Amino acid sequence: MRRALAIPAAVGLAAALGLAFADRSESQPAELVFRGGGVYTMDAARSWAEAVAVRDGRIVYVGSETGLEAWIGEATEVVELAGRMLLPAFQDAHVHPLDAGLELGQCDLTGSADAAEVLERVGACAAGSLPGGWLVGTGWELPFFPDANPHRRLLDAVVGETPALLWAADGHSAWASSKALELAGVDASTPDPESGRIERDADGSPSGTLRESATDLVAGLLPAPTVEEGVAALRRAEAVLLPFGITAVQDARVDGGADLEAYRAARRSGAWRLRTVAALRADPQRGVEQVPELVALRDAFDGPDLRVSTVKLFVDGVIEARTAFMLEPYDDRPGDRSAPTWPAERLLPMVDALAAEGFSLHLHAIGDGAVRLALDALERARRRPLPAEVRLQIAHLEVIHPDDVPRFRRLAAAAGFQPLWAWADSYIRDLTWPGLGPERSQRIYPMGSVARSGAPLAFGSDWSVSSPDPLLGIEVALTRCDPELGPDEPCESMQPGERLDLPTALAAYTIGAARANGLDAETGSIEVGKAADLVVLDGNPFEIPAAAISSVRVDWTVLAAETVYRREGAGEHHPSEHSARGADLSGTKR
Ligand SMILES: [Zn+2]
Repeated sequence: MRRALAIPAAVGLAAALGLAFADRSESQPAELVFRGGGVYTMDAARSWAEAVAVRDGRIVYVGSETGLEAWIGEATEVVELAGRMLLPAFQDAHVHPLDAGLELGQCDLTGSADAAEVLERVGACAAGSLPGGWLVGTGWELPFFPDANPHRRLLDAVVGETPALLWAADGHSAWASSKALELAGVDASTPDPESGRIERDADGSPSGTLRESATDLVAGLLPAPTVEEGVAALRRAEAVLLPFGITAVQDARVDGGADLEAYRAARRSGAWRLRTVAALRADPQRGVEQVPELVALRDAFDGPDLRVSTVKLFVDGVIEARTAFMLEPYDDRPGDRSAPTWPAERLLPMVDALAAEGFSLHLHAIGDGAVRLALDALERARRRPLPAEVRLQIAHLEVIHPDDVPRFRRLAAAAGFQPLWAWADSYIRDLTWPGLGPERSQRIYPMGSVARSGAPLAFGSDWSVSSPDPLLGIEVALTRCDPELGPDEPCESMQPGERLDLPTALAAYTIGAARANGLDAETGSIEVGKAADLVVLDGNPFEIPAAAISSVRVDWTVLAAETVYRREGAGEHHPSEHSARGADLSGTKR
């Protein structure tokens, strides 16, 4: 008991004096030590250290190089950082690894330059697909087509009689071929489903683009992936995420037992090693009646390797498709402010019931109407004393009414942003600004305002919607400019007052995301006693212009003290090259 009391006091004193602190309970040497670089610990004081020692998967020492000597034995692996930087490994508080991995095995349209390239790639996929089978793909960008509304005839011209369903990069719209619509029985007489829209020609017949729940009309015909396909998908996803230094994720839409089975099988087979939090998708049509099923899924699958702690609710859609729920009508759709996917009378009791069951909550809310509704629901949930492990996150925050900004801090609700989205790309210029009009367009992605209010920030990528690269997102959080621009190229920041500083942005992708994931007791900072989830960067983002941060590379990713990624050639010291990275994953957005 004395020891338990003494440790926090020692930690506090060490932090106050900037001293090293170590677990000296054993005199065994460390297995792995890092020295000779900048260690940014992401502890509460945002302190720097020179050296770190790791034993039995945990951090046992953080401090000066002098203090490190005692931890080095004959068998200790000594890593010379040589001026490189050591950080806690990144965490993604909103990402879709399973879906992204499945998509990597389908017709991949990600990174296409324009509509012509999309059609060329679809044609190539169609040529290689089985006759009579479905062609499924993803990754076309909404701004490639007038009104974000591609026509089925364009698709028919390259796929012919093949039923095809191609998801937009944002996952909120899908483009179907005539054959797919015919098989689904979607025609001029089909009404729009609740919370969905069938885009139509002047005569009322479906034009090919489906929004939100209307995508289910066709997607419901697709065979569900098998567990084996899920395992293969997660293997592909892991191969993408670990090289970006990400060792923990929250899968922001897990659809029931089949997805959980895939995660479990992938873990057992070694195909998937990341720390994983599953956010179970709840069905807005069913409301509270499904709560017992969600509890049963948690009981069946929750464990240390797969935390089934969270439920995901889509409160609205997206501004680009005019499905985000706004407080005031869209500028280009008079009288239309869309509607919440979960109306208040269903959302409030649902959030309350889930909180009563001890679920963490992850709410998708983009429009200022949806954000207010989500905050109202969380406020109601907070009226009961919630267990400490319950975490609240509102993700994809895009337009927040100024009155609502201070509420995140009061509710201890993580403000979930996808920082890579916060610059004036074609989505924003062509699709968002015309819908919001001049006043609201001046306050999108208000990361700076929310951070200044004292709210906890949690970053996520929403991959496969956009690149999972945390450094790309962190650069945009600081610049609010196209991350493909180099440090010497001119750029006008989108709302410069909303830029973040580097410590805040790094925190949102490490300890802040860890908090939103409920993994902060174990991970998210470099502190004695925490798991050794670490990343070595080949340069120090504090020493280069913000616009060069995305050219810093991950040299090494460590998960629970195991090397899970090492860049070829890393180890020799390469100062950052400040060159544009390969365009394969960095170019996409949403
Ligand atoms: Zn998402």
